Amino acid sequence: MSSKHFISLKVVLVLVVLAVVGFLYKDFRDFCNNSVPIFAYHRVENANDIYSVSPKDFDEQMAYLHTEGYRSMNLDEYAVARQKNEKLYKRMVLIFDDGYMDNLTNAAHIMQKYGYTGSIFLAVKFEGWPGYLDWDNDLKLLKYGWEIGSHTYNHKPLTKLTPKQVDYELIKSKEYVQGLYNPPSGPTLSYPTGACNKQVAKQVADAGYAAAVCGVVGVNTDKVPMQELRRVNAFHKKGNSLTYFKRHLLKAQLASWSLSHGIDFMGMWDKVRGNVR
Ligand SMILES: [Zn+2]
Repeated sequence: MSSKHFISLKVVLVLVVLAVVGFLYKDFRDFCNNSVPIFAYHRVENANDIYSVSPKDFDEQMAYLHTEGYRSMNLDEYAVARQKNEKLYKRMVLIFDDGYMDNLTNAAHIMQKYGYTGSIFLAVKFEGWPGYLDWDNDLKLLKYGWEIGSHTYNHKPLTKLTPKQVDYELIKSKEYVQGLYNPPSGPTLSYPTGACNKQVAKQVADAGYAAAVCGVVGVNTDKVPMQELRRVNAFHKKGNSLTYFKRHLLKAQLASWSLSHGIDFMGMWDKVRGNVR
């Protein structure tokens, strides 16, 4: 082969690689824009544990999502959109587990600046405890346009309970939520500790819950079952909180995108990191 032919072969190879990379990048970007991340928070407060994001960091995260063009929707609105097969573009859900008072006093006010509302999931037994919301506070959040859902009654992982106990948790907490208001799509749920399996998910659907968020990391397309929705964990990290937040989103998007092409990115990631799930 002459050197001239060799050079042209190299040029063709480079062009092919660039075309493949370009195609994959566009495919990934489209996937990200059309899938729905559910960002899972607990406390929005200055406290030194992974479940507490400081108001300052939280504001930065909301500002970032706003700059990126994301609009929030409550989980029950997402359920309705899924029922209607609506195409969603740059939408996301902000969820808050357990029912902390700072969700009202800190998070809600920061989110208002960006036109965002959230979905809060009450562990009903904690209602009125110090640091937690009570009935009147719940009503205030509803006035702000928030959704109130169930995080069960006793906050126990449902996979560890008998089917009868699971029903008790689902029904008792649902009654509390329905005492506050009537969610248009039916009530929604966030699983305590994220624990879910097929049996529990079926009971959740049978109990009338329109949507439920489990602990699996990922973003949501119309292929994800409504009672096994994926989440993006928004944990606290000292220093560079926004970088950590962006990394969590990217990881969730990569996990779901690669799965949509039949590749278990999260499984591979865990093997490399030596994580056990
Ligand atoms: Zn919880």
